[in-house]
Amino acid sequence: MWRKTRGLSRESACIIAIVVFILLAVVLPAVSVKKNAAPAENDPMPEIEFSISKLPESGDITVWVDGNYKKMPMEEYLVGVVAAEMPASYEMEALKAQAVAARTYTQYKRDHGGCSAHPGADICGDSNHCQAYMTPQEMADEWGSDAAKYTQKIVDAVNETRGQMIYYDGEEIQVFFCASAGGRTENSENVYGKALPYLVSVSSEGEETSSHYYGEVTVSRETFIKKMKAFSPGIKFDSSQIIGKITRFESGRVESIEIGNETFTGREVREIFGLNSANFTVKADDSITFSTIGFGHGVGMSQTGANAMAKKGADYIEILTHYFTGVTVK
Ligand SMILES: [Zn+2]
Repeated sequence: MWRKTRGLSRESACIIAIVVFILLAVVLPAVSVKKNAAPAENDPMPEIEFSISKLPESGDITVWVDGNYKKMPMEEYLVGVVAAEMPASYEMEALKAQAVAARTYTQYKRDHGGCSAHPGADICGDSNHCQAYMTPQEMADEWGSDAAKYTQKIVDAVNETRGQMIYYDGEEIQVFFCASAGGRTENSENVYGKALPYLVSVSSEGEETSSHYYGEVTVSRETFIKKMKAFSPGIKFDSSQIIGKITRFESGRVESIEIGNETFTGREVREIFGLNSANFTVKADDSITFSTIGFGHGVGMSQTGANAMAKKGADYIEILTHYFTGVTVK
């Protein structure tokens, strides 16, 4: 990290210093960091203060990140998770909802044997396995001149929800979230095969303006057949239509789709063709075109939906109790 830093401009180095400073300040237990206690009126230095003396200490967790095991305080880790999992430009209440969701997810993992891919770690930084994580250096690189502002915002989201988690029947829930639910979230059993009472389909409004809401993938007939054969070598396209009957869940996502002489789930087709979601329509002529709405599996909290709710004045508890049915946040 430091070798890299030496090559950076003074401005970048300064931003990184600020990011590191904020992170250090927030995680030191029972310490109030205050600069310029009595600033002169024209003092150019902003006053930075974190009142963390009243906050409980957070225990350390072991994170597998960038090929190493790293021990760090839970709340410091969560800053890196929220930074990686949700755009920092989102509303404060949406970021707070994400912070509580990330904390709950982490605690659940920890209480259930940790990361299965990296024995000895409570959790890993691989978004495809556990949850994404950004180092302070990565935040500084990603945000450029907004780094100090965004870091502070995320630190605040973590701090203001410190220690809070989502519970159902007194137990931490299994948290799921996605970028955009295409207007309606999905029952967990329709995606993961297991019904959970707090992961049931609910409306998700105000997502249409997000950049990934509408998606399209077009492949040639040849590619389509090649990819289907790679997935299911026994498939035949002889006499049957290339695309047959489609059934849908109540949310609109494809439950089953006949292709050639076989039937597939919407999830399988999403995977085969790299679709944004399993909520798609398909047009077959010279080429095959899938049109999707939403982005992700659709289970649990929609991040763009959370942001839309926050814009309309909902707080993070209202957001979480909307997307996770029957839960309490405390
Ligand atoms: Zn993992």
